[in-house]
Amino acid sequence: MPSGRMRADASCEHCGGPFQPTRPWSRFCSPECRKAAYRERRRQEAVERLEARVRAAMGRIEERVRAVVREELEAALDDSGGE
Ligand SMILES: [Zn+2]
Repeated sequence: MPSGRMRADASCEHCGGPFQPTRPWSRFCSPECRKAAYRERRRQEAVERLEARVRAAMGRIEERVRAVVREELEAALDDSGGE
């Protein structure tokens, strides 16, 4: 087996295609795949940031709703108590 120093069996992390790494840390078969993977990761990160913001907003809304319900409940109980 004379395939000594170059590993040709790496597979691209983006398209999954086989390629010969030019560096030990090469992860993609082409600059196109590298860019595409970078864009994909940026997109994913943006989605995660948005989801975190939505979750935080939902939490605040939930707190607000609980506070309103509590106030309404207390007001209703005060009314029916009738001093
Ligand atoms: Zn690729």
